[in-house]
Amino acid sequence: MSDQPPRRLATIAANAAVSETRDSDIAPGWRPTTTFEMRENQDYIYLRNGSPSFDPAEAAIAELESGVACMVFASGMAAAGAVFQSLSPGDHVVLPDVMYWSLRKWLKELAPRLNIELSFVGTGDLGQLEAALKPGQTKLLWLETPANPMWTVTDIAAAADLAHAAGAKLCVDSTAATPVLTRPIELGADLVMHSATKYLNGHSDVLAGALITAHDDEFWEKIQSARKNGGAVLGSFEAWLLRRGLRTLVVRVDAACRNAMAIAEHFAGHPGVSQVLYPGLPDFPGHQIAARQMQGGFGGMLSIRVHGGFAAAARIAGATQLFRQATSLGGVESLIEHRGPVEGPDSPVPDDLLRISVGIEAIEDLIADLEQALAG
Ligand code: PLP
Repeated sequence: MSDQPPRRLATIAANAAVSETRDSDIAPGWRPTTTFEMRENQDYIYLRNGSPSFDPAEAAIAELESGVACMVFASGMAAAGAVFQSLSPGDHVVLPDVMYWSLRKWLKELAPRLNIELSFVGTGDLGQLEAALKPGQTKLLWLETPANPMWTVTDIAAAADLAHAAGAKLCVDSTAATPVLTRPIELGADLVMHSATKYLNGHSDVLAGALITAHDDEFWEKIQSARKNGGAVLGSFEAWLLRRGLRTLVVRVDAACRNAMAIAEHFAGHPGVSQVLYPGLPDFPGHQIAARQMQGGFGGMLSIRVHGGFAAAARIAGATQLFRQATSLGGVESLIEHRGPVEGPDSPVPDDLLRISVGIEAIEDLIADLEQALAG
């Protein structure tokens, strides 16, 4: 532990890519090597075991999340996979019923093979959450908050108490919140997961994941082994790009939050829109909790449900010009997606729902584009 005073988030992020070498470079170099010469007291052996390419991004993300350590992975799915691979046969896991659909779908395939039992519940309701936990058998509570794509908010501090009382660890997929808005470890979480493909990188040009831990314990050692031996490592160039993207994290997230709030307020009550799902709106079910556990904004993600069902949603998603119709989120550019068809027939997502990742463009242009698309 360093005896330096804690740095503020904007300072940690802005300095994530300043060269740590003692030459006069400000921008760091990219280190492509996959292997390292064997020398006395040499920390590095082989890229899969860890690399000076990962260290600066990992150190910055751990500090941003108030964790003791961070590991970057080849993708968000690889990071999540390392957590589930570190469980033991017979373990029980509680997860949200609405969560990032690819992970839910993959876990349903994987769990029977690992002999892990999964319970999907409405984690936004603490009663349901408590009832689903099986003391002694539940080893992991997995949360996502706000959760894709309905932006359901779960009270992390209360969930951490419930998980710990049952003997389970709490891992929070905090991709949508980012450490700028929520730091789950400060609220009692044991692990935090990010699809670093999204806001942490922020430029839609890197696929990456990150796990941050509150404890350097046996479970973390298993996760380290899953990355090293399972091989789910990030490329060194991607690590360099991630580090560069991190520098502007705070300003990007601030701008996206401001734009998302303005869009939510503008389209709530719009004649073409039946509902705006955004934690920042006072009538959103999880708003009070979000106001407590998200600081400085409610995120850049929102969804709108439109009148006219599936056909109207499909038409509107194809009619925007500035918003590009594409999946993913957290980039500087705004994206729109008709989410139901992406998730498939067993998705709980209403088929009139448009998921919007709000970028950092001028708000007047974003609102005008959605207005013209809704007007048809
Ligand atoms: N978690 C959330 C909330 C996501 O949105 C995504 C991707 O969309 C993932 C995890 C998976 O991350 P990746 O695509 O980097 O594997």
